[in-house]
Amino acid sequence: MKIGVLTSGGDSPGMNAAIRAVVRTALYHGCEVFGIKRGYSGLLSGEIIPLDSRAVGDILQRGGTILQSARCPAFKTAEGQALAKEQLLKMGLNALVIIGGDGSFRGAQDLNKMGFQTVGLPGTIDNDIGCTDYTIGFDTAVNTVLDAVNKIRDTASSHNRVYIVEVMGKLSGFIAAAAGLTGGAESVLVPEIPADLNALCAKISRSLHEGKTHSIVLVAEGFYGDPVDADQSSAFKVGRFVAQHTGCETRITVLGHIQRGGTPTFFDRKIATLMGAKAVELILAGETEKMVGIVNDKIEAFDMDAAIGERKQVDPQWLDLIRILS
Ligand code: ADP
Repeated sequence: MKIGVLTSGGDSPGMNAAIRAVVRTALYHGCEVFGIKRGYSGLLSGEIIPLDSRAVGDILQRGGTILQSARCPAFKTAEGQALAKEQLLKMGLNALVIIGGDGSFRGAQDLNKMGFQTVGLPGTIDNDIGCTDYTIGFDTAVNTVLDAVNKIRDTASSHNRVYIVEVMGKLSGFIAAAAGLTGGAESVLVPEIPADLNALCAKISRSLHEGKTHSIVLVAEGFYGDPVDADQSSAFKVGRFVAQHTGCETRITVLGHIQRGGTPTFFDRKIATLMGAKAVELILAGETEKMVGIVNDKIEAFDMDAAIGERKQVDPQWLDLIRILS
């Protein structure tokens, strides 16, 4: 059996650990494994490389993805999909493991409709995929944010200022909520739950008046809508509002792509490894259009439709608790 593996969409720490687990599990079971470079772009252009055990040596601990990743609008077109089918037949692949987010899974479904066996692994720092408590890369990204917030806190305590820190997550607030809960923030602003900025300003003014030397507000990049469309970051808009309504000096930090990098944490390596092995088992069992998830610490298979369809929500109680504890 010939199994292909690709990484697609935004990269995330732990993708390499997943690739390693897929390759070595498949080799163990006597399969041939091929890596497709740059996601669906490489599929269309036929960039495919054989992967042996050595090819995935020394990558477990590395961020990014050795297969590289890409966004490929051409793959969504009828011509693109016809070309994809042609390439897969030429390559002689029987099944594909697709590591990415919901967009990548929609692509996997299209391949499945054309008769190719597909299994997806949730690889995104945003944690915005249904049917899994965690996605590969989320834990590392949150730890990166916590490290940054610790550093901002050090300098913040020397000044009476309001620090607005923008984190990634597209239209989802999981990174902001998780970092706010465990890193300590005055407030966390997420796209999913409406926020009362006037009440936030009143609270900031009160806290500073009562002797608190600084306030940190975490803002998800999608707080004001799709960050791709935004002409200005959410943090700048919030910062301007807070400065105008409190009279406080504000400082903005947009953490940006540092959140995508770094060596994956134990947790991301663990789920990437277990999920990668499970993907191969599913393929060998003849399953298709499945996504591997982790729910209540159990690695399980779910229908891709369910994973894409479920709108996972930040727990509003977390935001309440963040406010209570600040
Ligand atoms: P992610 O997988 O992280 O959500 P994207 O949404 O950018 O990232 O999707 C990655 C790639 O998956 C796209 O560039 C495209 O090639 C493919 N893709 C996305 N949406 C679809 C779709 N509706 N149908 C087919 N392919 C898609």
